[in-house]
Amino acid sequence: MIETLGVVGAGQMGCGIAQVAATAGFPVVLNDLSDEHLQAGLATIGGNLARAVQKGQLAEDQRRDALARIRTAVDYTGLGDCDLVIEAATENEPAKRKLFADLCSAIKPGALLASNTSSISITRLASVTDRPERFIGIHFMNPVPRMQLVELIRGIQTEADTFTAALAFIAALGKTATVSEDFPAFIVNRILLPMINEAVYTLHEGIGSVDAIDTAMRLGANHPMGPLQLADFIGLDTCLAVMQVLHEGLADSKYRPCPLLVKYVEAGWLGRKTQRGFYDYRGETPIPTR
Ligand code: NAD
Repeated sequence: MIETLGVVGAGQMGCGIAQVAATAGFPVVLNDLSDEHLQAGLATIGGNLARAVQKGQLAEDQRRDALARIRTAVDYTGLGDCDLVIEAATENEPAKRKLFADLCSAIKPGALLASNTSSISITRLASVTDRPERFIGIHFMNPVPRMQLVELIRGIQTEADTFTAALAFIAALGKTATVSEDFPAFIVNRILLPMINEAVYTLHEGIGSVDAIDTAMRLGANHPMGPLQLADFIGLDTCLAVMQVLHEGLADSKYRPCPLLVKYVEAGWLGRKTQRGFYDYRGETPIPTR
């Protein structure tokens, strides 16, 4: 039975997960590397909840109660009373492996562990923990409060009880689960990220400008966002990391990350979160950077 939730990583996904769980009535402990990250995360959640009240989607007392359910902790010992800890830290396998190994000694023996990874093998991440049978992939979509889907991914070692508890937790959040086998990037990103990568190749090869590519896919394929706008929204570092996992994991050159995507990441232009990516967000309206 999951009562208290821990979330490791207070970036865009961790904050979204914390917000949705707290709104659904779960006490949440939010962890990140520094108090600065945590305060920025709380400010984001506070702003999102206030906007939901303004739009009439949430009552004022629900906003207040949700915020009051979120505690912060700069180290993993603060997660000691959590029944489920979801990791939503940077998409980097060595960093996640270290994080999970460290986390195990701080959480209670029966606690479930989950990763929100976009692409990395759940079986491999589970293998560095002391409880691979209680480890599962719970992959939320961005932005978490708006997106209905959650992908559930069982590692080879995941036990049926862990899967059932995760399913019940997702239902309690009012979300819909799909099940994916544990192969690189699962279902959504196996399909979505190669499309985004192809859009970057289309830009790289000079076939169209940022504006032409995004307008073409919005108006020509009826996508709510153009692929380059979506890449900026996801984070270009995350997009590149997913393509690298697909490329290495499936050993097929069709997943080769576009060199232009690599260049943007090397420049530190990671999209919205750094205010520059395929668009420049520093002014009133986003301006294409190519
Ligand atoms: P982000 O860069 O916004 O946030 C990552 C956060 O993790 C940062 O605040 C960072 O300080 C923190 N962090 C890093 N190492 C840590 C550690 N050892 N302990 C505690 N905190 C740590 O990234 P994000 O977009 O929120 O992505 C997080 C995860 O969710 C990734 O695995 C990503 O693949 C996955 N994901 C992302 C999206 C998306 O659209 N961005 C969608 C679904 C899943």
